[in-house]
Amino acid sequence: MNQVGFTASTTTPDIGYALRAENIKKRFGDVDVLKGVSLQAGRGDVISLIGASGSGKSTFLRCLNFLEVPTSGTVSIRKESFDATDATNRSRSGKQKLRRLRQEVGMVFQSFNLWPHMTALENVMEGPVHVLKSPRKEARSRALELLARVGLAERADYRPSQLSGGQQQRVAIARALAMDPDVLLFDEPTSALDPELVGEVLAVIKDLAKEGRTMVIVTHEIGFARDVSDEMLFLRKGQVDEQGPPRYLIEAPKSEELQRFLARMRH
Ligand code: ADP
Ligand code: MG
Repeated sequence: MNQVGFTASTTTPDIGYALRAENIKKRFGDVDVLKGVSLQAGRGDVISLIGASGSGKSTFLRCLNFLEVPTSGTVSIRKESFDATDATNRSRSGKQKLRRLRQEVGMVFQSFNLWPHMTALENVMEGPVHVLKSPRKEARSRALELLARVGLAERADYRPSQLSGGQQQRVAIARALAMDPDVLLFDEPTSALDPELVGEVLAVIKDLAKEGRTMVIVTHEIGFARDVSDEMLFLRKGQVDEQGPPRYLIEAPKSEELQRFLARMRH
């Protein structure tokens, strides 16, 4: 992977957590989808979330940057805490506070969500120019750097429809990095890809892990999760059923549910 011109975000000698979620609950109508989920990521930690479909993984991930507002519970990044009252605060300062959270906690989606009418370069520049108000010239050179970083320097002027799924997802990763987030969330980043394209996306994510990015990754790629993550959470019915170093969960699952889930993953 081409690393030229890329500088990792500086590491501040900051103890404490990059991201902390405490007792997150989410109710849709009369269904309790999350029943009190907590997570703590130190700086540079990679945390993987596994669990069956419908267990609440996406909802929890979305609660971490308030794409979904938790019914109760707190999300903290380095200097600030957020709870449901922050989402209802429509004042200027309230909106700015939420914007800070969304900028610091970036998200990569299963379905890429690129703008179809924009080139790869324009997709990566969009946030810095319109949200961060970066000068176009700076945003452009930074975006080119990031596209090179994900191995797509030659594809800068292509539109999403002219790119493979794996390339689109790498553009989406560059776009998330362009906002210079402190934490990156991935929601099944390879689930929409043809099998032969999965590897190139996982390689980019592995590189980010090596360079000390704090990340929370929902994935069904158990081998990848084992390699890349410091901690694994098994979510079941809106609760953390088991949690610990991935090796422990994968090699010595305690609950029958996790044993069954892992067996299904291995076919
Ligand atoms: P996972 O990502 O683990 O598959 P989700 O977080 O997508 O699980 O969903 C967990 C549960 O919450 C599911 O039963 C789903 O139907 C429900 N759910 C998710 N989003 C909504 C919503 N906006 N309104 C109502 N129910 C929802
Ligand atoms: Mg999901």
